[in-house]
Parts: sequence; structure tokens; C-alpha cells
Amino acid sequence: MCDDRGADRASDVGMARTAASAAKSSPDVSRADPGDSRNRKVRFDIHAVIDNLREAVAPFADAAMFELRDRGYGTAFQQLVACILSIRTLDEVSLPAAVRLFDVAPDAEAMSRMTVREIDRLIGTVTFHEPKARQIREMAVRVTEEFGGDVPCDFEVMTSFRGVGPKCASLALGVACDALEIAVDVHVNRVTTRWGYVDAGSAEVVRRQLMEKLPRAYWIEINRLLVPFGKHVCTGNLPKCSICPVLRYCQQVGVRAHR
Ligand code: SF4
Repeated sequence: MCDDRGADRASDVGMARTAASAAKSSPDVSRADPGDSRNRKVRFDIHAVIDNLREAVAPFADAAMFELRDRGYGTAFQQLVACILSIRTLDEVSLPAAVRLFDVAPDAEAMSRMTVREIDRLIGTVTFHEPKARQIREMAVRVTEEFGGDVPCDFEVMTSFRGVGPKCASLALGVACDALEIAVDVHVNRVTTRWGYVDAGSAEVVRRQLMEKLPRAYWIEINRLLVPFGKHVCTGNLPKCSICPVLRYCQQVGVRAHR
């Protein structure tokens, strides 16, 4: 089994590179050839799938929260603020807005001294910026007054802030606190469901299923991999199955048409 897997992985890596390059260079790919050997399904192997995904997403921009952390905006407070900004907003828009805000007010104390209007001016490009500005200031004031300026690495506390749901709390815990958490967003939900790895359900249902079967080593990484993979390969409409490096592991649940 080990030998087979080594060979599988070598071939998978090649396919992943092809997928990444094709996905990047050509938005319009041809339909999968039914005679293609990659269409023959094999038993799902999460380790091989993760290996393939690492290769496949390497050319794409990192998931926003991880990119922010790598750029020095990695506190739990900054992660929660950035996640609020990202709700219903493209990363390409929310990420620069978060950086603009953090450059003026890098922590809760500084942000609590800003007015809602000042915050709103800096984040005006994101969707629902006015209510988000109110939520962010409210959180900054609470974090300063109740927690001495630092957001505790605690799911219950995080989700007690207005605007912070389970996805943002899980992401902040995983990215800023190094806590073992699985952040299930639309990409993680859609891709793992299509694989047939989990049953379709709400983010919370999928999160619980993943916590039962996904090896802990991948709990934080799964979001980092599936956000760019879901954006560029396993897209919401017409996923690019014909160039997908994990096609043979994937049951393509619910996929009626693909590229
Ligand atoms: S649905 Fe298609 S693109 Fe998505 S993971 Fe499965 S084979 Fe890949």
C-alpha cells in the first residue's frame, strides 16, 4: 500500500501542478473526458488529497486570515475584525480595508478611541460597512474595558461579540491562538460535501462531522487549503473537475455540470 501510495502521490503532484497552471491561465477549460483514467474513482485518502491540495493552491493567494497573520496582523482581535470585514465581501476588498484600519488603529484600545464614522471611512469599500463599523467599535470598547485590550482565546467570549459567529471565532482561534479548531466557511462546506467526505448540512453540522473524521493535523490547514481551492478550482458553479487533482477521490456529490 505504501509503494502504491508513493507512486500515486508522484502522479498526483504532477496533476496538481497541471491543475494549478491550467486554472490560473485559462478560465475556460474543456469538459472532462470520460475515458480519462483520472475519472476512475479510488478509495478516499485524506492524506493524498491534502498533499494534492497543497500543490494545487500554491500559486494562488493565501486565504485572507492567514495572509494577514503572515503580514503581521495576527492578534485575535485583528483576526476577528478582519473576519467581520470579510463577511459577504471578497478577500480582495476586505483584506486591504483591514490593513487600512489596522495601520491607523492596530489594537483594541486604539480602535476604541475612534468614532464609528472614522472606522466607517476606512472600511467603506466592504459590504455592510456601516453596521460593521458599529460592531467593530463596540467590540474594541468591550475588549478594552472587559479584557484589558486582548481578546481571550475562548470560543464563548468571541461569539459573544456582535457580528462574530462560529466561523470567525474558529478562524481566530486557529490562526491567532494556535487552538485546534476547524473553521467551516462556504468553501470548506461545499468542497468536503462534494468529496462525499461529509454529509450536506449547515456549517455547524459539517464542522462536527469534520471534527470526528478529519485528522487533527489538518484541522487548521483545511481552511487555508480549501478557500483558494474553492475559489479557483472547485468553484460554486461549474467546478473545474476536468483539471482537478483530486478528481479520482471525489464523489462529485451534487455536481450536475462541470468544466
Ligand atoms: S467536485 Fe470536481 S472540482 Fe470539486 S473536488 Fe470534486 S472533482 Fe474536484
